[in-house]
Amino acid sequence: MIRNIALVAHDARKSELVDWVRFNAGSLESCTLYCTGTTGRLIREALKETLGEENMPEVNCLLSGPLGGDAQIGAMIAEGKVDMLVFFCDNLIMQGHQNDVMGLVRLASLYNVPFATNRSTADFIISSPLYQSSEYERIIPACIESYKNRKL
Ligand code: PGA
Repeated sequence: MIRNIALVAHDARKSELVDWVRFNAGSLESCTLYCTGTTGRLIREALKETLGEENMPEVNCLLSGPLGGDAQIGAMIAEGKVDMLVFFCDNLIMQGHQNDVMGLVRLASLYNVPFATNRSTADFIISSPLYQSSEYERIIPACIESYKNRKL
């Protein structure tokens, strides 16, 4: 079941993510959201407007991306605290915190987290029957256990 969703957008794509959140507000209502600082502030405002303060999901704003927010979300993924990631990166410029961006992408891939880097993928995930399913369990890749138990 998707309960904890991480949402991040670089400046050039923040309005795209906010539009997506507004459109899907009903499907996000029962989730807990974790966002990098500025993205989270914008999403909180949008959800307050769309759903009202009483019905909106909890929106947790972490540090701003360039100040460590991407790294915080990466750490949450490694700790099993994120069920889905929507990360709209600016694909036209390098970020000062590009290393953290790459780290987050790597961890989402490693831990087999449903991960959208664009709006159509985010639409496909949120409209999938598996999004609501309480039976679906994300498989943690075997390479993680083998890595922990590797012989040195
Ligand atoms: P921000 O961070 O939401 O604080 O702008 C996003 C990012 O650059 O990763």
